[in-house]
Amino acid sequence: MKKILIIGAGISGLYLANLLEKNGNYDYKILEKKKVFNLQEGYGVQLSVNGVKLLNEIGFRQIAIHDINYPRNINFYNSKNLKLISKIEISKFNNNQNFYTTIKRSILFNFLLKNIPKEKIILNTDIESIDQNDQFKINIKNNVSEISDYLVICDGVFSSSREMVLKQIKSIKFHNSVAIRGNLKNIENNDVSLYLGPNFHFVTYPVNQSNEANFISIIAEKNLEKIKNGNKNIIIKEFIDILSKNSVFNFKDNLENISIYPIFVSSKFDKPKNKKIFLSGDALYAFPPSFAQGASQSIDSAYEVFKNLEGISDNYYESREEKIKQIKSRSEFNHFAFQVSNPITIFFRDIALKFLSKNNSFLEGYLGKVYK
Ligand SMILES: Cc1cc2nc3c(=O)[nH]c(=O)nc-3n(C[C@H](O)[C@H](O)[C@H](O)COP(=O)(O)OP(=O)(O)OC[C@H]3O[C@@H](n4cnc5c(N)ncnc54)[C@H](O)[C@@H]3O)c2cc1C
Repeated sequence: MKKILIIGAGISGLYLANLLEKNGNYDYKILEKKKVFNLQEGYGVQLSVNGVKLLNEIGFRQIAIHDINYPRNINFYNSKNLKLISKIEISKFNNNQNFYTTIKRSILFNFLLKNIPKEKIILNTDIESIDQNDQFKINIKNNVSEISDYLVICDGVFSSSREMVLKQIKSIKFHNSVAIRGNLKNIENNDVSLYLGPNFHFVTYPVNQSNEANFISIIAEKNLEKIKNGNKNIIIKEFIDILSKNSVFNFKDNLENISIYPIFVSSKFDKPKNKKIFLSGDALYAFPPSFAQGASQSIDSAYEVFKNLEGISDNYYESREEKIKQIKSRSEFNHFAFQVSNPITIFFRDIALKFLSKNNSFLEGYLGKVYK
C-alpha cells in the first residue's frame, strides 16, 4: 500500500483525503497545524461548476438543499447608485447535475470531514523539517516523525513545507489590497451581485435558503504594515467609511462579523525536482480572488494529484502550469476591470461589459473553458 502524507487539512488536502479514502488502496494521514477546526464560520465560498463536478464524485449532492444556493446570474452593479450595469447568466454553464454553487465554508468543511476517520487527521502538528531519501521523513516537534512514500503539500498560501522541500523562500507577494469579509442578513436575491467601485469592488451572495449571505470586498491598499500592525477595529471602520462614501449600499446596518486581512498571491510558479512531491491548492499557486477560482482550483489540483498517484496521468506540473496561466490572466484582468477609477475608463468598461456579457463566444472562451 502506498503511504501518503498530506500536509494541511484545508479544501485541497481534505478533498484529496476523500478520494484516497473512497479508493481504499492508500495508507494516508493528514498533518494539520490547527489545534481545532472552526466549523461554525458563517463566511461563504463560491464553487464554480468545474469544482462542483469534482465534489460530486465524493457525494457533494447529499448536502441538504437548504444549506446551499444555486445562483442563476452574476449581476454587475455600479457601486455608487446600485444601478444594474449588466448580468451574466452563470447557470448556463451548469451541466448534468453540476450547478454553480454558493455555500458556507463551514458546511463545505463539515462535508469534507464527514468521511475521514478521526485518527487519520493529526491536529496541532508543528513540522520542523522534511528529509527526502527513498522515502520522506517528516520531523515534528517533540521528537515525533512520520514516514511516507509520497508527500502532498496543501498548507495554503503561506506554506512553510513548500519552503522546506524547495529549499527557498516562498514566492508570494502582497497584492496591494485587503479583503473585508462579513455576513449579511435578509438578502432575498439568490444571485451573485458584484458592485464595481473606484479602487474597490464588493460581492454579495446567499449561502443557503435562509436568506443568509456572504459579503466580501477587495479594496486597494498599499500599506501592508498598517494592516498587519494597526488596531483591527479602527482599520475596519476606516475601510467601511471608504465604502460608504462611495456607495449607497447600507454597510453599517447590515454587515456583521466583519474581519479584515491582507491579500497575498503567488509571484511565480515553482516545482520540486522530486517527482513524489506534489504541491496542491494555494501552496502550489495562489491567485488574486477576483475570479473566485481559488477553492475550485484547489479541488482541481488535488484531483490531478490523485490521478498521478493512480498512474492515470503523469504530467502533474505541466498540466497545472497551463491551468495556472489561464486562471491567473483572468483573475488579474478581472481585478483591474472591477476596480478602475478613471470616469472615462469606467464609461468604456461598462459598455464593454454590456456587450461581452451577451456575447456567447466570448463567454464560452472566458468562462466556459475554465468551468469545463
Ligand atoms: C478574500 C478571499 C476570498 C475568496 N473567495 C473565494 C471564492 O469565493 N471561491 C473560491 O473558489 N476561492 C475563494 N478564495 C480562495 C480559496 O479560499 C483558497 O484558494 C482555498 O481555500 C485554498 O485551499 P487550500 O486547501 O490550498 O489552502 P487553505 O484553505 O489555506 O488550507 C491550508 C491548511 O493548511 C494548514 N496549514 C498551514 N500551515 C501548515 C503547516 N505548516 N503544517 C500543517 N498544516 C498547515 C492550515 O491551517 C489550513 O488548514 C478566496 C480567497 C480570498 C483571499
